[in-house]
Amino acid sequence: MAKLHKKTCSNLGDVPEAGEMDELLPGPEDYDLIIVGAGPSGLFCAINSMQKGKRILILEKKNSPGHKLLISGSGHCNITHDGNIRNFLDHFGDHGRFLRPALLGFTNSDLISFFKENGLGMIREKGGKMFPETLQARDVLNILIEQCRALGVVIKCNQAVKSITRKEDGFLVDCENGSYGSRLLVIATGGCTYPATGSSGDGYRFAGILGHRIVEIGPALTPLLIKDYPFSDLAGLSFPDMKISLYRHAKIREHQGDILFTHEGLSGPGILDLSRYIRAEDVLKLSFAPADKRDALEKWLVDMARQDGGRSLLSVLSDLPRFVPSSLPLPSRLIKRILEISGMASDLQMAQLTREMRNRLIDNLTALSLVVSDLCGYNQAMVTRGGVETMEVNPKTMQSRLVKGLYLVGEVLDVDGDTGGYNLQAAFSTGMLAAGSIKSTLLSS
Ligand SMILES: Cc1cc2nc3c(=O)[nH]c(=O)nc-3n(C[C@H](O)[C@H](O)[C@H](O)COP(=O)(O)OP(=O)(O)OC[C@H]3O[C@@H](n4cnc5c(N)ncnc54)[C@H](O)[C@@H]3O)c2cc1C
Repeated sequence: MAKLHKKTCSNLGDVPEAGEMDELLPGPEDYDLIIVGAGPSGLFCAINSMQKGKRILILEKKNSPGHKLLISGSGHCNITHDGNIRNFLDHFGDHGRFLRPALLGFTNSDLISFFKENGLGMIREKGGKMFPETLQARDVLNILIEQCRALGVVIKCNQAVKSITRKEDGFLVDCENGSYGSRLLVIATGGCTYPATGSSGDGYRFAGILGHRIVEIGPALTPLLIKDYPFSDLAGLSFPDMKISLYRHAKIREHQGDILFTHEGLSGPGILDLSRYIRAEDVLKLSFAPADKRDALEKWLVDMARQDGGRSLLSVLSDLPRFVPSSLPLPSRLIKRILEISGMASDLQMAQLTREMRNRLIDNLTALSLVVSDLCGYNQAMVTRGGVETMEVNPKTMQSRLVKGLYLVGEVLDVDGDTGGYNLQAAFSTGMLAAGSIKSTLLSS
């Protein structure tokens, strides 16, 4: 298969930066292992698969590795989460079970130790999110690239894989300007959010052609667009730890988290996490006051009307958290809007509040209904839900159950986690788990 090909970006050389070296070299075409995609899962898999005398190639579409890693955590890289790794499983919904061997086999502590041993400490931020002490995603990426270089992993950039074909003794991988053969193959192409980073869903096509079922994909960890949104002019208001209920015919989920009003809808960690389960036309109910305090809320409003009938409802509601525990403090411009939505004048006095009005108001304070018109698309979503069907992948090795020698790691799989460092941990842990199996296969050859 040997032929001439263009050497681009990196090949056992310096840590690659953007750019291309227009050298013509005789191409080392055959490898023991090819990894498609130089994101965290692919790079980490390569580092941990390497052993003496073996040839490992990473093919990367972009002009340098790790574009998505560089923008993670707004460039600070929320690399993992603090706490017991068993708690991570809950943050992946139904897919926690599939990830169990990967996460327990290579934990958050293991990941932190790996970077510490390579000179990069980690710090814990609010809520348990872990970041590199320098708060620079670039430092995380540089360690991965440097490890690849030191171990002799070849990284070729500007090499968009076009097709993967199963051969009797392995795989043939075709790029626009070269073909490569290998015995083992890893698809580490990520999902399809922020496609400008290179992760544009190619891996689903490759896995599909190789026989895998692809669970319907969609944007997740994304802000929402709301139908007839009533809070455009209140964009920027945020609420800590708000309870949000999700309805599709019946209630399907409940979540508590920080939310943010945007110009067109809702965002903030509480919404992003819940978005993994949301579809267009679903109904969200926001609780400014807890639904189980409905009776207390009613009694308080009745008492206030009796005691101080001349006082405005607006001013009474600004005292809500003092009288109804666990209610959120509401700025007066929001109270005005809730009154408007409830069909009441903002100068309404307590004595004018009828039972019917009171019930409508309580409904909107405890469960304000908003209809989701859509999720923001792949350009704003942090991860992709759906992907390669996990039933067809061995959770103990990340090897395909359908195609021998094929491994699938990272976000290309049908796994997605909450915000907080869970997705990067899954990328590293699945990359590591595949590496263990690859290493023993390579050793035995
Ligand atoms: C804005 C943003 C912020 C985020 N912040 C965080 C965070 O702070 N913490 C966290 O845990 N998660 C975060 N995530 C999610 C996290 O970055 C991803 O889940 C993670 O990068 C997935 O790793 P991966 O290796 O599977 O895929 P990716 O990082 O997507 O890497 C896949 C690589 O494959 C390459 N590739 C794709 N197709 C081809 C092809 N045909 N040929 C060759 N190469 C190809 C791509 O160019 C890319 O480099 C964030 C995501 C986004 C978009």
